[in-house]
Amino acid sequence: MNSGPFPSSMPPELARAAKPDFPRWRQMVTATGGCAQPVRLQGRRLTIDTTTGEVIDEYTTDNEPTGYLLTACGNRRASRCPACADVYRRDAYHLIFAGLAGGKGIPDTISDHPRVFATLTAPSFGPVHTSREQGGRPRLCRPRRNSGTCQHGRPVGCTARHERGDPQLGTPLCPDCYDYMAAVLWNAHAGQLWKRFRTYTERALAAQARLRRAALRRQADSDTPRSPSTRHAAWSTSTPSSASTARQAPRTPRQHGPNVQQLEQAIRTAARNVAISTPDPHQSGRSLTLRWGNQLDVRPVHLADTGSGDAFEDAKVAGYIAKYATKGAEATSTTDRPIRSAYEVATLHIPDHPCRMIRACWALAARPEYADLCLRQWSHMLGYRGHFLTKSRRYSTTLSALRQARADHRAAEARQRHGQPEPVSGNVVNESQWRFAGSGYRQGEAIWADVARERVRLARAIDEDGNKR
Ligand SMILES: [Zn+2]
Ligand SMILES: [Zn+2]
Ligand SMILES: [Zn+2]
Repeated sequence: MNSGPFPSSMPPELARAAKPDFPRWRQMVTATGGCAQPVRLQGRRLTIDTTTGEVIDEYTTDNEPTGYLLTACGNRRASRCPACADVYRRDAYHLIFAGLAGGKGIPDTISDHPRVFATLTAPSFGPVHTSREQGGRPRLCRPRRNSGTCQHGRPVGCTARHERGDPQLGTPLCPDCYDYMAAVLWNAHAGQLWKRFRTYTERALAAQARLRRAALRRQADSDTPRSPSTRHAAWSTSTPSSASTARQAPRTPRQHGPNVQQLEQAIRTAARNVAISTPDPHQSGRSLTLRWGNQLDVRPVHLADTGSGDAFEDAKVAGYIAKYATKGAEATSTTDRPIRSAYEVATLHIPDHPCRMIRACWALAARPEYADLCLRQWSHMLGYRGHFLTKSRRYSTTLSALRQARADHRAAEARQRHGQPEPVSGNVVNESQWRFAGSGYRQGEAIWADVARERVRLARAIDEDGNKR
């Protein structure tokens, strides 16, 4: 394995450090921002002047001492890659914040538009352990005057006070009473239910305020991976209201638009009315109606903390949704990767509740009426086919625009390092050809990656300390 002047007994990390390509390798690791599972690429990128056809810059991994380029994995699940999830969370934050308060190409008059922060929840599929706080202390979970047992002999009440982080939270009092099939079907339709809810809200708003349907356009929502049961959304209308609550004294005469109360009313009406039908898993020939749960919270979003207890500050809303976006498998103790076989289902080492959800996915997947839900493929997501954070470009600046900006920055950095001039903008294209050459760190590299990651973390902490948003 070891070649060169080093004794074969040398620890692999020291052997790595002693290689001539070590400084460049370490630089690439640092540039991935501390990624846990970076991707190795081989290939080249040409920068071409489109007017002359001339190649003005060529980058090829053949010239790298390592023979490859390390790039960040870009995974947004904190359980898979904390560093990349953090980058995603920051991007999401800026995206949502720009949508609420302006900036990043969104005019700051957006904050004159009525804005609300809504939280929708899934309906109940059976009693679960809960924690509601009262005066800073968790209340009793499910106190019952006549505490009896269910048909499976389990208590129907629970007098525990569950602290935050208690693994029992969200799990059923009786797993045999809990309707796992309906829960999975709800998850599988959550995206569709959400889409329909948005349409209904726009319609309700239009009917109320006699506006065109285009009135409600800007929104961001947290599409919580693996746990679609709670969904947060920040909404604002595309027109400022005639009596804006966010700011006083309009500078220009306004178009007539809905106010916060109308927006809230529209959301409540839509949440109550929206429904989707699917074949009932328990009774053939009947259908199951899927709806949102009764718990719905809608609060106005203010520009800054106005001291009003029932309103949210826009920065807080953005931070909250962004945090939700990166929650991964750790949120529901499930697995992060697709489950490929019944054998895998049988041998999963995860808690009972997500395990039963996964088994319900596999059981339903075998039935032709649910074939189009691809429940096997999405069983690791408990049936939920995730997509995140408003694909709609209308909301604000898009995530890919932010990513592009970062990629450009990297390219400029590399150019400077090689002492190359800045290409003349406007008539230059980049043509790239990359092939996958593996992922993760090789033997002896992990420790040095840890060191680089720690440096990145430290630099970020210092940066955040001095530059609080
Ligand atoms: Zn990564
Ligand atoms: Zn309990
Ligand atoms: Zn029971």
